[in-house]
Amino acid sequence: MSVSVIKPDGSRQSIPDDILDALRVQLRGPLQSADEAAAEPRPTWNAMHTDRETLTARCSGTADVLDAVNFARDNGLLLGVRGGGHSVAGLSAVRDGMLIDLSDMRGVQVDPVRRLAHVQGGALLGDVAARHRRSAWPPRWVGCPRRGSPG
Ligand SMILES: Cc1cc2nc3c(=O)[nH]c(=O)nc-3n(C[C@H](O)[C@H](O)[C@H](O)COP(=O)(O)OP(=O)(O)OC[C@H]3O[C@@H](n4cnc5c(N)ncnc54)[C@H](O)[C@@H]3O)c2cc1C
Repeated sequence: MSVSVIKPDGSRQSIPDDILDALRVQLRGPLQSADEAAAEPRPTWNAMHTDRETLTARCSGTADVLDAVNFARDNGLLLGVRGGGHSVAGLSAVRDGMLIDLSDMRGVQVDPVRRLAHVQGGALLGDVAARHRRSAWPPRWVGCPRRGSPG
C-alpha cells in the first residue's frame, strides 16, 4: 500500500511500498506511517497544532538522519525535524510530509576540560543539565527540563 505525501509546491505524490521498504531496510530506527505513529502517540507540547506527518523516521543515529534527508530530497518531500517537540509555534510537525523524529537520540557527552558538550538532536535540556551536574562544569542556565536543546 502506497502513501500519499505533499510536495513543497503543494502537489501530491504517491510513494509506492517498494520504495518505502527499501528505506525501512536502510534505517536502524523505525519508519512509521501516519497510522502507526498515531497508535504510538508522541504528542507535541502545544496541542493547538494538529498537523500530522505522513511518514515519520524515528532516527536512532546520525546514519539514519543522513538516509532520511537523502530520501526526502530524492523524492522531493516536505521535511520537518523534531528535537524535543516543545515548539510553541507548532514547528515540531510537518503536515503531510516526512518528519525526522530525533527523540530517540538523547545522548550527551560533556568534556569539562575543553568546556565542550556534544549533544544529540533529541536531548532535552534536562538531559544536558543532568550530565553537566555530574561533571566539574556545572550548567549555566535554568529552564524547563522538558524543552528540547536543539530547537
Ligand atoms: C514552557 C516553555 C518554556 C520555554 N522557555 C524558553 C526559554 O526559557 N528560553 C528560550 O529560549 N525558549 C523557551 N521556549 C521556547 C523553546 O525553547 C523553543 O520552542 C524551542 O524551539 C524548543 O525546542 P525543541 O527541540 O523542544 O522543539 P522542536 O519543536 O522539536 O523544534 C523546534 C524547531 O527547531 C527545529 N529543529 C529541532 N531539532 C533540530 C535539529 N537537530 N536540526 C535542525 N532543526 C531542528 C524544528 O524543526 C523546529 O522548527 C519555551 C517553550 C515552552 C513551551
